Amino acid sequence: MNSRFPALFVSHGAPTMIMEDCPTRDFLQQLGTTIGRPKAIVCVSAHWGTESPRVTMNPFPATIHDFYGFPDELYALDYPAPGDPALGDQVLSLLSSQGIAGEKDLSRGLDHGAWAPLMLMYPDAEIPVIQLSVQPHLGPAHHLAVGKALRPLLDEGVLLLASGSATHNIRDYFGREPDSAPLPYVREFAQWLSDAVLGGNMSALLDYANLAPHALKNHPTTEHFLPLFVPLGAGGEGHLLHDAYSHGALSMAAFSWQ
Ligand code: ZN
Repeated sequence: MNSRFPALFVSHGAPTMIMEDCPTRDFLQQLGTTIGRPKAIVCVSAHWGTESPRVTMNPFPATIHDFYGFPDELYALDYPAPGDPALGDQVLSLLSSQGIAGEKDLSRGLDHGAWAPLMLMYPDAEIPVIQLSVQPHLGPAHHLAVGKALRPLLDEGVLLLASGSATHNIRDYFGREPDSAPLPYVREFAQWLSDAVLGGNMSALLDYANLAPHALKNHPTTEHFLPLFVPLGAGGEGHLLHDAYSHGALSMAAFSWQ
């Protein structure tokens, strides 16, 4: 019998996080051991936005280095996890059963929103990974519905991993040291988010843009926050797994729903 896996949201930070001695790297290195090895992983990354949901079907997805101006060694990193086209079919079928039309993507590889945390969680790269795209123009309720549709996967030993950032003001990120104290507006939003997740306040989370303090300043664009609504929709009770900050502007919070 397969064990039930949690649905997760992690903040992936800058690609350099992999090489920095920082609390979030330590946390992600422990996380794979803590939750154990799933039979496969469905990753919802902030770095793949499409008109409608798309699922990677490539059995050998390439490692995409979708970032610019970072140290050379980051571009040499490879995460050669296999794909899982059968799981991709299952994801599309589950979405379809809830009235959500998705499409196959036959060529795309894994972007750094997926491979950066996975490289720390499961460094052997032997667990099959597929990616599911986000639709920033469709908002929180759509992503919640996607998560609800995927809930059965958790009972089959599949890990649902959403990868974004709990706060994501890039303008304030640049020019600050990795261990800078969090800016007040960042801390306020992160605290509100944590309270809402732990309190199970679904309606407040769905209306975060109006209710959360400094929502627009923390997420001038929404693609790094929307992945959170997929595990929120799939899982049960919310838990805070990790609470840290990077460069003063990024909350590196991670949550699980189980
Ligand atoms: Zn990112």
